[in-house]
Amino acid sequence: MTTSRLIVVRQQVVDALEAEMPDVAEAMLTAGAEPALVSGANGRPARKAGLRCRRIVFERVLRAAAAGEPGVRLVRAHADDVLSEHGRAAGLRVDGATLPADLVVNASGRAGRIADGLRAPEEGGDCGLSYVSRHYALRPGAEPGPVNVPLGLLSLFPGYLAGVFLQDGRTVSVLIARLTADRELAGLRAPEAFEAAVRLIPGLDAWTDPGRSEPASPVLPGAHLRNTYRGQLGADGRVPLPGLVHLGDAVCTTNPTAGRGIATSLMQACQFVRTLGPDVEAATVAFDEWCTERIRPWFDDHVAWDADEVRLWSGEDVDLTRPLTSGHIVAATQADPSLMRVVAPYLMMEALPASLAAAEPRARELYAGGWRQPMPATPSREDLAELVRRTAPLTV
Ligand SMILES: Cc1cc2nc3c(=O)[nH]c(=O)nc-3n(C[C@H](O)[C@H](O)[C@H](O)COP(=O)(O)OP(=O)(O)OC[C@H]3O[C@@H](n4cnc5c(N)ncnc54)[C@H](O)[C@@H]3O)c2cc1C
Repeated sequence: MTTSRLIVVRQQVVDALEAEMPDVAEAMLTAGAEPALVSGANGRPARKAGLRCRRIVFERVLRAAAAGEPGVRLVRAHADDVLSEHGRAAGLRVDGATLPADLVVNASGRAGRIADGLRAPEEGGDCGLSYVSRHYALRPGAEPGPVNVPLGLLSLFPGYLAGVFLQDGRTVSVLIARLTADRELAGLRAPEAFEAAVRLIPGLDAWTDPGRSEPASPVLPGAHLRNTYRGQLGADGRVPLPGLVHLGDAVCTTNPTAGRGIATSLMQACQFVRTLGPDVEAATVAFDEWCTERIRPWFDDHVAWDADEVRLWSGEDVDLTRPLTSGHIVAATQADPSLMRVVAPYLMMEALPASLAAAEPRARELYAGGWRQPMPATPSREDLAELVRRTAPLTV
């Protein structure tokens, strides 16, 4: 049985690989990743929309490529600290040993604490949402289940979200997202409770029918999901240690349910490579400015969107005294599909969240006229909570 997390690999990731490491893009396909396509509107041809790929496949291919790169030496160790000399980064202390370097890249991810004291503090925090997911493999000859979006199937119920994400090799990741504060639904991490829940939820029941598929991973909790942003500069607005650059989730972490993190990370990596010149300090400032313009908006978008999602899942109505956030604008395409002209480029991350302003007045008109996102009443979150109490009472 393979432990494998859900992964959405967006087209920006494929574009970055094809631009910088075309052999790695090719190796992904050889390893089984499948190009994802979205059908074009009004008879236009289908467009590329990333890869369907399990995380384990994606990471194995990347690691093998790094290990096979001439001039790269892999060191498996803990980076304790960044070394400095004459006010510039001079390398790392790794498991107590010195590793000299002219340029240090901190790609230590969302929980990395390296060089923590050097930058201005991060903004943001917990997004208020959590999920549990499980991988399933279709049985030989079995037909796929129902889909309603290019990624697979997404259905919002009162108090929770259910989804099926298409992956490579006839596998899917089945997910139930909940409010982090909903401690009862946290019990869905127990396999008995998860299996009973997916049997009850329309769409998920079809995909996980034992006649169609079988579990291919344990039930995996995705908790403590965060939206955070932290630039390159110190509190005084200057580069604290020229030669030290922060990339990836160490700059911007977003709630993974929208699957944007690898895209924002590789977009940063490509931009930094383009920006880097002989003056690393100037390049760091230019890169920070680019991140503020092109990456930070995705963090701001998640903070506003997730806060509204928490209100919606808690049973609150849309607040028309404030500008509508992206979740409400995206939902309004169900009432007026012509809004997709504006919304689709945002969903594909081809246009920044500010582009949704063009769709806001029409979406607002719909909500003001009484339209609300249709939601099946059952199974309710109370139905799922009851099921947790019945199947896995000790895990609550
Ligand atoms: C549950 C979950 C699901 C996700 N799903 C998706 C998805 O479907 N699509 C998507 O685009 N994004 C997804 N993301 C986000 C995505 O994983 C991140 O955006 C991406 O991995 C960031 O890459 P990174 O290299 O910056 O950091 P990471 O991938 O986190 O890598 C950082 C590495 O540095 C190591 N490290 C940290 N500190 C040290 C140290 N001091 N010494 C040595 N090593 C250290 C860490 O152990 C880790 O291995 C998901 C995230 C989570 C948590």
